[in-house]
Amino acid sequence: MNFDALRPLLDDICARMAAMPDRGTVASYIPELACIDPARFAMSICLPDGRQISVGDAKVEFSIQSVSKVFTLAIALGRYGDRFWSRVGREPSTHVFNSVQELEAREGIPPNPFVNSGAIATTDSLLVGATPKETLAEIVRFMRQAASDDAIFIDPQVAASEKETGDRNWALAYFLRSCGNLRHDCALTLGTYFHHCALAMTCEQLARAGRFLAGIHPDGNLIAPGHIRSINALMMTCGHYNGSGEFAYRVGVPAKSGVGGGILAVLPNRASIAVWSPGLDRYGNSLLGTQALEILSQDLGLSMFSIT
Ligand code: GLU
Repeated sequence: MNFDALRPLLDDICARMAAMPDRGTVASYIPELACIDPARFAMSICLPDGRQISVGDAKVEFSIQSVSKVFTLAIALGRYGDRFWSRVGREPSTHVFNSVQELEAREGIPPNPFVNSGAIATTDSLLVGATPKETLAEIVRFMRQAASDDAIFIDPQVAASEKETGDRNWALAYFLRSCGNLRHDCALTLGTYFHHCALAMTCEQLARAGRFLAGIHPDGNLIAPGHIRSINALMMTCGHYNGSGEFAYRVGVPAKSGVGGGILAVLPNRASIAVWSPGLDRYGNSLLGTQALEILSQDLGLSMFSIT
């Protein structure tokens, strides 16, 4: 990737996004997220040689929400290996990200680790033999190492806000438990889940945190290469909920979105990219974040389905 050409391209994307009339809808079902300024936009790219290029509000913190599920999956795979998959599937979802119906149809085995039910089961697996505090400390530690930055924290107000209003997640947790796929008390597991979703990070930190998935982390491989391949495959097929096919069609790289408006995209061996724009599309994915990645992908020929 030509670094010198990247800066003007990112500046141009940033300017084009600022002029977009439709910025999507900021998530309001978590009250703390409802007051985020929809005009925010940021993008940051980390390259194998250690250089990082950023535009827009790349130093402003936002709630990474579901992007945290990539990191909890990395820890769970490290702990359980293939045994992890007895509790969670590896198939794209066809329903909304917090669907109870889909979980019921699959008899309590979530379709994948990135929809809410799958991420709740993943969090539950991390709680085996550890308290919520220890589990959250492990997640934050992993995130800090991945981002090479100790200034990464959980926002307790966002976690509390979701705890109050997250009825759908409570329903999913109780359903998982009724099927024998939740080992802990629902409040314990959900409390931990809400907290890791409430990790606050800047776009620059998130791009750096994704380097291990591209195999370009300065400390070498943080997890087994086989697990990196597994996670990237799941990001490709399931990273944008029931909008994953559309994202693959338009952008064509492994990526994971969150309702805070962040997207982490991975180009194996080439780059880790984070984008943030809080307005969401109908699937709950960042509207402008996706558009920005689509332009970048087309301009640089990044789609893995492209022959050029
Ligand atoms: N904490 C959010 C929830 O459970 C995460 C959803 C998302 O980012 O897509 O609803």
